[in-house]
Amino acid sequence: MNSIKFTLRQQEIIKLVKENGPITSEALADKLNVTRAALRPDLAILTRTDILEARPKVGYIYANNESYNAVYEYIRRIKVQEIMSKPVIAEESTTVYDAIVQLFLNDAGTLFVVNKDILVGVVSRKDFLKIAMGGTDMNKVPVGVVMTRMPNIIFAEAEDSVYTAAQKIMEHQVDSLPVVQKILDNRKESLKIIGKVSKTNITNLFVNLSKKI
Ligand code: ADP
Repeated sequence: MNSIKFTLRQQEIIKLVKENGPITSEALADKLNVTRAALRPDLAILTRTDILEARPKVGYIYANNESYNAVYEYIRRIKVQEIMSKPVIAEESTTVYDAIVQLFLNDAGTLFVVNKDILVGVVSRKDFLKIAMGGTDMNKVPVGVVMTRMPNIIFAEAEDSVYTAAQKIMEHQVDSLPVVQKILDNRKESLKIIGKVSKTNITNLFVNLSKKI
């Protein structure tokens, strides 16, 4: 170990980061019951002395954690386009019944609703269950009525890292993200669907990763 003497607060920060990293400065401040501003000088010292490493948009990690670094670097390098799969899509006018049949036939859990390739909505298993429990006539109601609409759809882009996509999935508690390409249509931005990335794709990557390391 090096001979730098750390204050009690700094030692506490190192311990928290070792146990919880990656962790944001907000979360650290919360755990220590201080403001972020109060932590700033300590975090500056700990990163300058290479004890901690600050990862943009991720938080602080304990810099000597080799195995974490290897996994992290590997996952950061993989792009969504490398693991995405074919989305199951339907038009807004498709009946809920036909949409459910589509999901079964394609062994999927989420249906993406499009209007000429442009993403307009998402319908999940739970949305269908809600409709079924409500006793609605599934042969009459179109999916457009039950779907989650733009602009509330959480999406990923082909060039995003798998790590970012996984973070979005966890943060928003959804099973699947549409992978889109942004296109300008009459100066209005719309999203063309080109794939999907789901918990299954990511779990699959995780299994393959364990084989490689
Ligand atoms: P499940 O039905 O298995 O719980 P999700 O957790 O994916 O599936 O869906 C929960 C809710 O979030 C549903 O109402 C669904 O319409 C909505 N949803 C699913 N995926 C997305 C997404 N990518 N963006 C926004 N909302 C979504």
